[in-house]
Amino acid sequence: MKISNSVKSFKEAEKLIPGGVNSPARAFKSVECNPIFISKAKGSKIYDIDGNCYIDFVSSWGPMILGHADDDLINIISNVSVNGTSYGAPTTLETKMAKKIIEMVPSVEKVRMVNSGTEATMSAIRLARGFTQKDLIIKFSGNYHGHGDSFLISAGSGAMTLGKPDSPGVTSNIAKDTLVAEFNNIDSVKKLYSRFKNKIAAVIVEPVSGNMGVVLPKDNFLKKLRLVTQENNSLLIFDEVMTGFRLSSGGAQQLYNVAPDITTFGKIIGGGLPVGAYGGKKEIMNFLSPNGPVYQAGTLSGNPLAMSAGLCILNKLDNKIYNSLEKKSNIIYEGLINNINETGINAIINRVGSMLTLFFTNKKEINNYSDAITCNLKLFAKYFKYMLKNGIYLPPSQFESLFISDAISFEEIEYFLEINKKALKHINNE
Ligand SMILES: *Cc1c(COP(=O)(O)O)cnc(C)c1O
Repeated sequence: MKISNSVKSFKEAEKLIPGGVNSPARAFKSVECNPIFISKAKGSKIYDIDGNCYIDFVSSWGPMILGHADDDLINIISNVSVNGTSYGAPTTLETKMAKKIIEMVPSVEKVRMVNSGTEATMSAIRLARGFTQKDLIIKFSGNYHGHGDSFLISAGSGAMTLGKPDSPGVTSNIAKDTLVAEFNNIDSVKKLYSRFKNKIAAVIVEPVSGNMGVVLPKDNFLKKLRLVTQENNSLLIFDEVMTGFRLSSGGAQQLYNVAPDITTFGKIIGGGLPVGAYGGKKEIMNFLSPNGPVYQAGTLSGNPLAMSAGLCILNKLDNKIYNSLEKKSNIIYEGLINNINETGINAIINRVGSMLTLFFTNKKEINNYSDAITCNLKLFAKYFKYMLKNGIYLPPSQFESLFISDAISFEEIEYFLEINKKALKHINNE
């Protein structure tokens, strides 16, 4: 496989952009190879600037649930752009978007649009703090909520892969307002509540964690979080930037039947354009400016291109698609289990819906951050490179989820499983 154009482009980019990329995970650092520069994508496939074609299991890190360059989406974006790309004034598209989100996610009664998942989570905790008049928040180690200062503490994938869980530039004063608990360990949460009585504004959680690899909530963990937050008059925030509109039309909260006070969205909600949102109970959302005292704003928030792109995708997400995603993902899951058994490699898989991680570990289960960090990253890097060379584009980190899109065909799944078996054999024998 020739990648000389990507190699050359990365060298050029490195001179002008920090690390050559505009988001760290794209640099392929943890898998020790040159990132692939993309020229175009359609359906299940992405193409690099050397003319190689790959089956895409990254889906732009989640958004492209229907695959790339959906015809209706492209038409809508083109048509809307003719009338201007931003007005800084309200449009009916924004009301339509709000209506659609509220319809799909019943715990959301009002919703505010922003421009990224990071903005959504930052704003959600400010709102929670303003509403409860308390300062502290609890997050879980290995959970990622974007790069807001309050969250860059035990923050999962990007930071985890690089072995730097905290970032310089986050002041100790900010860090001390973030308490860290262990995912799937309700006692670790209860301990913080008894130690910091009446001081905790909210618990923020990825209801299914995707940023330390996929880790599922166990033993009614989410229901227990709902209870303990209620008992202590603090809010429960579900960060569904990744899981929202992916695990079901109503996200993880529908799947696990737990209603949070505030939900954050991103990724799928923008159909591939830069969008985020946060919403929840009316009385909480009414605390936002210009109704209430908590300030939050955005020049491009509710942008007409982004709203129409997001609406186009959300309108297409019906049961048929979720059933199809479940079917495809399950075939992938069973095939991988089969391959693991046949090759005898030490690995396990966590999956829910179309999110899935193959962990290279001796452990029998991965339920939290300390489990996840037992993984063999050298083995993952070899696996990644083998798959890439054979036309499979995977997330370039052990601590990420595969995002299966509905554009992936059964033949492509068969091919993926065949290459996967060869890859596992190859790295196991090396
Ligand atoms: C991706 C992600 C974010 C950050 O969203 P950006 O749009 O990258 O800022 C926040 N939370 C979770 C759970 C995510 O997966």
